[in-house]
Amino acid sequence: YMQKAKEYVETVYETVKMRNPHQEEFQQAVKEVLASLTPVLAKHPEYMKQSILERIVEPERMVSFRVPWIDDEGNVQVNRGYRVQFNSALGPYKGGIRFHPTVNDSIIKFLGFEQIFKNALTGQPIGGAKGGADFDPKGKSDTEIMRFTQSFMTELSNYIGPDQDVPAGDIGVGQREIGYMFGQYKKMRGGYQAGVLTGKGVGYGGSLARKEATGYGTVYFLDAMLKDNGLSISGSKAVVSGSGNVSIYAMEKLTQLGAKVIACSDSDGCIYDEQGINLATVKHLKEEGNCRIRDYLNAHPKATFYEGCTEIWSIPCDIALPCATQNEINEQAAKQLVSNGVKAVGEGANMPSTLEAVEVFMNNQILFAPAKAANAGGVAVSALEMAQNSARIAWSFDEVDEKLHHIMHTIYKASTEAAEEYGEPRNLVIGANIAGFKRVSAAMISQGVI
Ligand code: GLU
Repeated sequence: YMQKAKEYVETVYETVKMRNPHQEEFQQAVKEVLASLTPVLAKHPEYMKQSILERIVEPERMVSFRVPWIDDEGNVQVNRGYRVQFNSALGPYKGGIRFHPTVNDSIIKFLGFEQIFKNALTGQPIGGAKGGADFDPKGKSDTEIMRFTQSFMTELSNYIGPDQDVPAGDIGVGQREIGYMFGQYKKMRGGYQAGVLTGKGVGYGGSLARKEATGYGTVYFLDAMLKDNGLSISGSKAVVSGSGNVSIYAMEKLTQLGAKVIACSDSDGCIYDEQGINLATVKHLKEEGNCRIRDYLNAHPKATFYEGCTEIWSIPCDIALPCATQNEINEQAAKQLVSNGVKAVGEGANMPSTLEAVEVFMNNQILFAPAKAANAGGVAVSALEMAQNSARIAWSFDEVDEKLHHIMHTIYKASTEAAEEYGEPRNLVIGANIAGFKRVSAAMISQGVI
């Protein structure tokens, strides 16, 4: 059946390319997942008859909509909003909202597609979705952010609900935006439906440790992977791209576990500080200040700023955590990291390594933690937030953190076991794809032709 499975996967991929022309990121995400699944399909030929792949690559539903808003000068501006509800086999649609000028059909669909398998891996009852808008929050005033976000939610509110679809944050959408969205949803739909969004402030239904969850979770996963290979975070040198929510809490946990983080970045460039990045400064700049990472130099003049967003990968390190955005590590950056002696790479962002970069890491036996497994801690704690909202209770920070730790170790174990079962021991890319796929496909088949 191996040959038949291979041909089947290729046919499905060709159809995806034909049906989704010019959607490069979506095609890339599909290509990687489908390539991993050949051995599973060979073992379960009944899946081919069920056309499971044709179904899984087609979103259940996708909407795009006009988002008109008035800027501070009184001009009317128009952006485009999106929501893809990709798969609901395992639970209500779940996934973040991204506000960034690069947002388009392809970006939203790649993120939604990845989210299906990531959410499945968490073991929580959540389907896969994603949304966003091509709105650029950079340089916008607080009132502009509020007006845009309210307009976005006015339309989105038609499609979401606590048992239907539960959005959260992503790039450009943090606690402030979630708060404005929550207020607008309440106004549009009536009633206090705490579980309609996650990532809320802890004062009104948010979960403790949600803010930290993606970054901490990535490091818990990395820790499990290193230990399993006789290595340790303690005493290592780490480079963490980005300086947003994921990056900041990955750096915090790495530092707590004894690593020295020597560089982080934003879209302008990166900061190298051989003393170790001062996290209090980064938090101050990024969480309160709305500043750029180069302003780090004002407080730490001995540090160095390098212009350009890929410069960070030329800094020698033991551990590299891409926590900024998609395709931030290309083949050349991957080769650079390898030749500088990197031992482990953990993806905190979604699809931060190109297909060619992943191949470089694999061919050089670098320990590689793929995004859909390594960064699943964020959405996992979102599911815990939904659970707390439904039960009208609030767990302590330590309770949530302990559950997160347990979930990340369980994902590591499931991915490793799937990789072994299908003959690619230690290949977590394949392991994570297979473990996630098995859970979703089993549920889809149980639920009939849907
Ligand atoms: N945007 C995050 C992710 O990619 C979180 C999604 C959520 O919490 O729903 O997983």
